[in-house]
Amino acid sequence: MTAVPLETSVPHPAPGVAAAVLGLSKVYGSGENRVVALDRVDLAFREGEYTAIMGPSGCGKSTLMHCAAGLDSYSSGSVHIGTTELSALDDRQLTALRRDRIGFIFQSFNLLPTLTALENITLPLTLAGRGADREWLDRVVSMVGLAQRLGHRPSQLSGGQQQRVAVARALVSRPTIVFGDEPTGNLDSRAGAEVLGFLRDSVRELGQTVVMVTHDPVAAGYADRVVFLSDGRLVDEMTRPTPDRVLERMKAFDGRAHTG
Ligand code: ADP
Ligand code: MG
Repeated sequence: MTAVPLETSVPHPAPGVAAAVLGLSKVYGSGENRVVALDRVDLAFREGEYTAIMGPSGCGKSTLMHCAAGLDSYSSGSVHIGTTELSALDDRQLTALRRDRIGFIFQSFNLLPTLTALENITLPLTLAGRGADREWLDRVVSMVGLAQRLGHRPSQLSGGQQQRVAVARALVSRPTIVFGDEPTGNLDSRAGAEVLGFLRDSVRELGQTVVMVTHDPVAAGYADRVVFLSDGRLVDEMTRPTPDRVLERMKAFDGRAHTG
């Protein structure tokens, strides 16, 4: 397995911070097609904290997640996972960092159809040439309630069960941080609530750091903190959110958008 350097020449943003973006900007296209998707975003994710990212469609949420997870390049600024600054890594090191230190949950599950649930869950370890830590694997599998479904293929599972597989896959390598881009966007409210509960459990019980994009004030209510993005900029933040307070805040933004 390729070792990812844990210490680079770039100083760590702050102790107790799992990941951070500093002055992060992302510009797509040029000339008339130029879109500033992210405009100098500063944001830190503390260890063991559950953060929700909200904002109108097209405001840069997915771009922020993809840049922070090393899945996309950025125009300027820096991205830090633990004490590693991503621009200090070559392609091979970046691949290893994504595999070993970052979990990503997609709206569309992104499971491999020919693999069983268990094989999908352990895929990051298989790719790294590592065996599973049996105790940890059992804990993650039982947390997401999949012990009876491990031999099933994705087509034999409901959407909610498939996303539980994806949650377990994201947690299995004990990553520094787990990102979810609208992880409940394709689920009915009951299956969505289960997935949100598992993510919250991973924070409370396993000390995992979790960041998720959501449109849903109820989903945001599971988080410890909500950050609001608008036009590629960070515009507000709320700690200990409740669905009602998040909804109020969203209405205030909408009002401003219509009058402004
Ligand atoms: P969100 O996830 O909040 O809906 P995105 O991060 O997907 O927003 O997009 C932010 C902005 O960047 C939007 O204006 C979008 O049209 C633009 N954008 C996203 N991806 C691309 C791309 N590959 N090429 C050009 N523009 C893009
Ligand atoms: Mg998006």
